[in-house]
Amino acid sequence: MDRYERLCEALRAEIPGFRVVRKDHSRFHRAIDVALRVVTFGQMTSYLDSYQTTIGKTVYVTPDWDTWPADRRYVTMRHEAVHLRQFRAYTLPGMAFLYLLIPLPLGLAWFRARFEQEAYAESIRAAAEVWGPAHPRGEAYRRHVVEQFTGPSYGWMWPFRGAIERWYDRILATVGTR
Ligand SMILES: [Zn+2]
Repeated sequence: MDRYERLCEALRAEIPGFRVVRKDHSRFHRAIDVALRVVTFGQMTSYLDSYQTTIGKTVYVTPDWDTWPADRRYVTMRHEAVHLRQFRAYTLPGMAFLYLLIPLPLGLAWFRARFEQEAYAESIRAAAEVWGPAHPRGEAYRRHVVEQFTGPSYGWMWPFRGAIERWYDRILATVGTR
């Protein structure tokens, strides 16, 4: 078993009902794709192809998921595992309300940014574990993560680049250097 399979096995034990489903096979996610294109003025066009999405106990994955190297699936699933635990803690209606609406659906989504900071912190730690601490310290990875918060991908959820960069560097400080 590779580390992705071991993680999934652990998640099945931790979260009964946990499952992985292809996003493009879900009518619900195809509807979300259309809605996101509308609310982001056409800028978010990659929802079905580029983003793994957790709702409740289900992780919805992109069509190419099974072709990803196991290590990459492992790092991503560590991020999604944080969301699985958030759904368990806050319940599905609670998460939907806080994640989507509070205080605003776009531009200033404090709870969404907090939930994603918790999950991306796990992405950073998992990337350091799999590819070495130099990986999340690289400028390309850092910029990618920061832009998830400040750009259109999550509806400009926290468009304060300096604050996100300081948060990122605080997480990096908890990751080893070698
Ligand atoms: Zn996330």
